[in-house]
Amino acid sequence: MCPEVKVGVDGQGRICAVLKQGVEPPGQAPRTHLKGCALLPGFANAHSHAFQRVFRAQTEYLRAGRESEDFWSWRQMMYAAAGRMTPERVYDVALDLYKEMLAAGYTSVGEFHYLHHGIDGRPCVPPLAMAEAVVEAGLDAGIRMVLLMTLYHSGGIGQPATSGQRRFTFETVEAYLQHVEAALERFDDPRVSVGMAPHSIRAVPLEWLSSLALFNRGLSMPIHMHLCEQEAEVEASIKAFGVGPIEALEGTGLLGPSLVAVHATHLQVDDPKRLADVGAAVCACPTTEANLGDGFLPALELLGSGVSLCIGSDSHASVNPFEELRMIEHHERLRRRRRGVLATVFPPSPDAPDKRRVAPGLLSVGTLEGARALKIDAGMIREGSWADLIALRLDDPALSGVPPHCLPEALVFSAGPRCVEGSWVAGQRRFGTPPSEDQ
Ligand SMILES: [Zn+2]
Repeated sequence: MCPEVKVGVDGQGRICAVLKQGVEPPGQAPRTHLKGCALLPGFANAHSHAFQRVFRAQTEYLRAGRESEDFWSWRQMMYAAAGRMTPERVYDVALDLYKEMLAAGYTSVGEFHYLHHGIDGRPCVPPLAMAEAVVEAGLDAGIRMVLLMTLYHSGGIGQPATSGQRRFTFETVEAYLQHVEAALERFDDPRVSVGMAPHSIRAVPLEWLSSLALFNRGLSMPIHMHLCEQEAEVEASIKAFGVGPIEALEGTGLLGPSLVAVHATHLQVDDPKRLADVGAAVCACPTTEANLGDGFLPALELLGSGVSLCIGSDSHASVNPFEELRMIEHHERLRRRRRGVLATVFPPSPDAPDKRRVAPGLLSVGTLEGARALKIDAGMIREGSWADLIALRLDDPALSGVPPHCLPEALVFSAGPRCVEGSWVAGQRRFGTPPSEDQ
């Protein structure tokens, strides 16, 4: 943590200077003074399904005649919500969501977009109408977006898609890749990039995954995939292929440094090493995983094996990067009935080698590692990176009185979106207008 840092931003929105205390910037460029604030890289939300925010809070009950609800019954309600989405409706929902993200401290989002087709399942006119609505909402809110074009084909391994899935599916992998090519051509804005997202081992035949890996040679887009979210998915994979979902990817060409495994809550014992060996990352979505009753992320095993983690708010039951980060550690404490669990796997800080800390490592998970998972040049305050930044009020009740050297711990274990004074994407303010600002 450095006091009185000055950050210069160039005309493109990238950081061009980081000046420490006492060094004055040259020239008369407009300045913004952020008194009483801490400046951080913005958080990266690496996993989002924007439309799912539309039924937030409306599934938090047991329906009459049902003794229990789970992921699969929630999915049926989600399909019903998806079935009603039009481009206009999805724009409205996504705009609300992305504004909420910016207010919570996220400055970028990986939008795992699978609502491709019209209500009747036929292609939209134009074919990218649903994706365009989501991207337009992102641009209007001002958040940086990686549009992860999702591939969905089957309703289960070797099973036809159901009517509830008809808006997501492609008949051939070629048709999907044409859709990706069209998106690459269509979205020409420095704040928007495109990636691929085979939905899951349930929804995409293994041989199609090889085509995606081949297509990505030279493009090097991020490839995100739901993996091992549910025990039933792992059981189906073992039944069909004799191995778990991650091992099943071996030989497809997909298991590599561009892969981000979303969830990874039900791993086989060798899976952390399998992911680490190829440089693949894992996106944890603990608020959604808790909300849907998915299970616990084996964070200690993953980080201990050298797998990078990032975070996502997924279903948007809550949009709160501070909560996502603290839950990663808290889940491990609850599982193991110990404290400071992840301190053993994050590197010791050079200024306090006798003290192993959790919070700086988790802040990196929320910022730099998320940016890496989305392949965007952000997540650090350094020259050349996008000026995607957040300012946090140090006089917020959650932070006041905390010793400066404990600020990372206070942010992870005590703070929340209320502390966010402002959010900037490419140097442009997208949330907050403090009276102390001096443009
Ligand atoms: Zn998801």
